[in-house]
Amino acid sequence: MRIILLGPPGAGKGTQGERLVIKYNIPHISTGDIFRAAIKEGTELGLRAKEYMDQGKLVPDEVVVGIVQDRLTHPDTKNGYLLDGFPRTLAQAEALDASLQAMDTPLTGVVNVDVVEDELIDRLTGRRVCRGCATTYHVKFNPPTVRSVCDKCGGELYQRTDDTVETVKQRLEVYRQQTAPLIAYYGAKDILYTVDGSREIEEVFAEITSILDRQH
Ligand code: ADP
Ligand code: ADP
Ligand code: ZN
Repeated sequence: MRIILLGPPGAGKGTQGERLVIKYNIPHISTGDIFRAAIKEGTELGLRAKEYMDQGKLVPDEVVVGIVQDRLTHPDTKNGYLLDGFPRTLAQAEALDASLQAMDTPLTGVVNVDVVEDELIDRLTGRRVCRGCATTYHVKFNPPTVRSVCDKCGGELYQRTDDTVETVKQRLEVYRQQTAPLIAYYGAKDILYTVDGSREIEEVFAEITSILDRQH
């Protein structure tokens, strides 16, 4: 099972991804999580990525592509993986296609999670993330059992510095210009499945798994 989760910031890629990788027992490869981990560790990659992330801009293609290509050579990807937040530009999609072709590992499907923009702003500004395990919550729509504490690991929840109204608007603009064209790109390859991401988390999950179960 080799899956891409496509969709605007706040569509629920991370939330669905967490659940999908448990069901299908595959690694969750989130480029955003990789960058946030690098920032936390204070590595050179982290320093470089932070500049772009804080402005709501995309990290340059050559940086992101190299990281993902590397990650896909790891043995844990042998039985598949879920890509969350990658690719985000046509250049990234083309580079990924070239790598997958060389490895003879075609994608199972690209799931496009569709949510209207007003809802995205509410979701992103109320998002909270665990410092320990990166599990995603929402203050209203998906709160933890105990306020500010992760259900899974007891870690502290924090608000991402790029989840402010201004940066969110910038990120949505970047999505429209640079990422939305991927819908047509994968649509032309006949591997695109669009789901209505505005429903309850469990309903969206049921729709995605029913689509993916048919692709096996
Ligand atoms: P993405 O990874 O696409 O940016 P997330 O999975 O982080 O999106 O979700 C963004 C925010 O919206 C989070 O706070 C999450 O808890 C919340 N959320 C995710 N899916 C839903 C849903 N179906 N309904 C309401 N809120 C949701
Ligand atoms: P969201 O969950 O809101 O979609 P992510 O956690 O996926 O956000 O990404 C956060 C930030 O990390 C992006 O705004 C961008 O700066 C950077 N980033 C993540 N993935 C990519 C990518 N594939 N290409 C370029 N930049 C990326
Ligand atoms: Zn946690």
